[in-house]
Amino acid sequence: MLVSLIVPCYNEEESLPILYDALCDVRKQVGDRDFEFIFVNDGSRDKTADVIRGLASDDKDVRYVFFSRNFGKEAAMYAGLEKAKGDYVAILDADMQDPPALIPSMIETLDKDEADIVAARRVTRKGEPPIRSFFARTFYKLINKMCDVEIADGARDFRLMKRCVVDAIISLNERQRFSKGIFAWVGFRTKWVEHENVERVAGETKWSFWKLFRYAIDGIVAFTTAPLRFATYCGFFFASLAFLYIVYYFIRAIILRIYDQVPGYPSLLCFMLFIGGLILMALGLLGEYIGRIFIEVKRRPQYVVSEEEKSDR
Ligand code: UDP
Ligand code: MG
Repeated sequence: MLVSLIVPCYNEEESLPILYDALCDVRKQVGDRDFEFIFVNDGSRDKTADVIRGLASDDKDVRYVFFSRNFGKEAAMYAGLEKAKGDYVAILDADMQDPPALIPSMIETLDKDEADIVAARRVTRKGEPPIRSFFARTFYKLINKMCDVEIADGARDFRLMKRCVVDAIISLNERQRFSKGIFAWVGFRTKWVEHENVERVAGETKWSFWKLFRYAIDGIVAFTTAPLRFATYCGFFFASLAFLYIVYYFIRAIILRIYDQVPGYPSLLCFMLFIGGLILMALGLLGEYIGRIFIEVKRRPQYVVSEEEKSDR
């Protein structure tokens, strides 16, 4: 029985050796399985490529894919999943924030057939800037209100899956990937293991606040059309308001014969600005979705490979 461990790496020259040692410990601890370590180098600019080649030349269980440029973590995870041959497949970060020490017990859980997926979840966000935690929490509340699938707060991409789950995930070959949603969407029995937040061992995070914010928007747009409905509701609400207003003035002028002394210039201006703003917002929303459609219909591959380990090993 083969276990595949996938590691997306972007500028991780310092953390990779530490992670590799930890993975070797896992391999030793779970003696009765074969392992393959799949390193996906997502266009790193440092010496990550050399480090991975070095590991591969000493260890036949190390396999790798190099991308021709940085395609993002989502693409890296997808490439890893496509390449993995294991009966059990796990994805984990290179920076040790996903504790490899959890893997043996995860394997045991799947063996006992208690679940099809064992996924890790951070119960604390210790060591993270408070403002980032706040926005993350708000995001999860928002997306869970709008989507049919439930996306767990604090869920990481770190999880061990059975083959059937991996095949289901690969079959969703959309370009704009939002893994947290995809994992939830495919379903299956999930068991959560909880752990404290761990800070990365070396290097620095690749996710700026702005990048995370865009990722959040991607997630919402990829998994729900609720915002579009929101525009419709808004439009309906203001149209009804306008209608009532017309009726009101009609009655005032025709039946009660009350005429305005002061022309309603300011209120008119306010209304126009407000409604103009709403229309622009709705258009922007439409644009978000149309933009995604444009990207999806081009059917471009999610990544371009520049190098792989020799297959004759
Ligand atoms: N990563 C990647 N491509 C990217 C950004 C990140 O493959 O464009 C990898 C990175 O090497 C790490 C994982 O994704 O293994 C998580 O990244 P990071 O630790 O920077 O994110 P954080 O833990 O801060 O959310
Ligand atoms: Mg990290």
